[in-house]
Amino acid sequence: MTINTAALTERFMRYVQVDTQSDPNGVSFPTTEKQKNLSQILFEELKEMGLTTVELDQYGYVYATVPATSSKKDIPAICYCSHVDTAPDCSGTNVKPILHKKYDGKDIILPDDNTQVLSASINKYLLKQIGNDIITASGETLLGADDKAGVAIIMQTIQTLLDNPGVLHGDIKIVFTPDEEVGKGTAKIDMQKVGARYGYTLDGGEAGSLEDETFSADGAIITIHGVIAHPGYAKNKLVNAMKIAGEILAALPNNEWSPETTDGMQGFVHPVSLNGIAEKTTIGFIVRDFKTAELEKHHARLKDLAEKIVASHAGARMEYATQEQYRNMKDILLQHPQVADHAAKAIERAGLTVIKESIRGGTDGSRLSYMGLPCPNIFTGMQNIHSKLEWVSVQDMEKAVETLVHLSAVWEENS
Ligand SMILES: [Zn+2]
Repeated sequence: MTINTAALTERFMRYVQVDTQSDPNGVSFPTTEKQKNLSQILFEELKEMGLTTVELDQYGYVYATVPATSSKKDIPAICYCSHVDTAPDCSGTNVKPILHKKYDGKDIILPDDNTQVLSASINKYLLKQIGNDIITASGETLLGADDKAGVAIIMQTIQTLLDNPGVLHGDIKIVFTPDEEVGKGTAKIDMQKVGARYGYTLDGGEAGSLEDETFSADGAIITIHGVIAHPGYAKNKLVNAMKIAGEILAALPNNEWSPETTDGMQGFVHPVSLNGIAEKTTIGFIVRDFKTAELEKHHARLKDLAEKIVASHAGARMEYATQEQYRNMKDILLQHPQVADHAAKAIERAGLTVIKESIRGGTDGSRLSYMGLPCPNIFTGMQNIHSKLEWVSVQDMEKAVETLVHLSAVWEENS
C-alpha cells in the first residue's frame, strides 16, 4: 500500500486557502456562512471519488460512508471526524500556504511579515523534521492545519482505501463538522447520520500522539448587584458593582489556580469576561479539571471567595450560576478500552511510538463520547495552532493517513 503524498499535500494546500473562520459571537448556525464553502468542496470531492452515501446538510455538516470491503457481518462501524472551521484568534482570510521542501533546520522567516520567524530553537519538534517537507502560512494569517490537516488526512485515507480494496474493513463513516473552535461542533450533529459505534477525531498534534483524556469543563457566572444612587448625593448610599468585581478579580491567587500557573493534570478557574455598570456587573469564568468531581470544589472555593468580598459591602448582593460545558472523555473510554487500544496498535503499525496524552481542553470527541460515540483524538502533526507560526509536516500527515488505513483494518481483524 502506498500513500499518494503529492495528492495529500495538494489537498491540504487547497483546503487551507478556503476561509472558514468561525465566530464566537455568531448567532446563526454555522456561526459563519463561509464555513460551508469548504463543506461544499468536500461534498463534491467525496461524490467524485465514487461514494454514493454523501450528504451536506443545511448546517454545513458533511456525512459520508465508505462501504465495507470485508464480508464479516459483525464489524462495528467506526467514524473519522474532523472540523472544517479555523480559530477566531487569528485571521484565516487569504491564507497563502508555503511548502518548504526538505527542511534544513534553519530559521524560516515568513515572507509577508518578517517578524514572524519559525525557529527550531523555540519549536523543538522542528528538529525531528529535518529533511521533511514543512508547510507554513506566509506571516499574516494562521495556516489552518487545525483542522484542515485532519480534513486532508481523512480525505486521503478514503482515497487510499478506495484504491486498495484488498485492505479489508467494515463500514467507515465520515463526518466533517463546522464551529468546533467556538465549542459548537456537535450542536447540530445528527447521530443517526453518523451511524457509527465508535469514533476518532483527527485533531491532535505530534506524530504518534493519542489523546483519550480531556478536561471536564464548566462555566460560572458571578452576578454582582450594587446599590445605585445619584453620584452627587451618593455618600453612604452608592455601592459600585464594578468595583466589587475588581476586588474579586484581585483576590484570585496569582501563584496557583489559573491557566498561567498550572500545567499537567492541574485544574484551574479563569475569568474570561467582565461586563457591567455600577448597578450590576457580571464576571464570566471557565472552570477546568480532569477529575469531574473536583469541579464542585473549584466552584465552592470561587463562590466563597466572592461571597466574602460582596458581604463586606452593605447592600450589595451576588448570584453564582454554573453551566456544564463538557466532560472528560476518559470516563466513557474506560468502558470501551478497545477503542484506544486499536488506535495504539494502528499507530505502532505505522512505525511510530504511541504518545498517550491528556488534552488540557476539549475536543468534539469529548462531547461525542457522551453522545454515545466513544471518541479519542488522533494526531495530525499540526503545531503552533491558532497562530501565524502554525505549521505542519507533510510526513506527519502521511503517517496519520497510514495510521487510519491500519486502524480500519485492525477493527476488521478483531471482529
Ligand atoms: Zn482543532
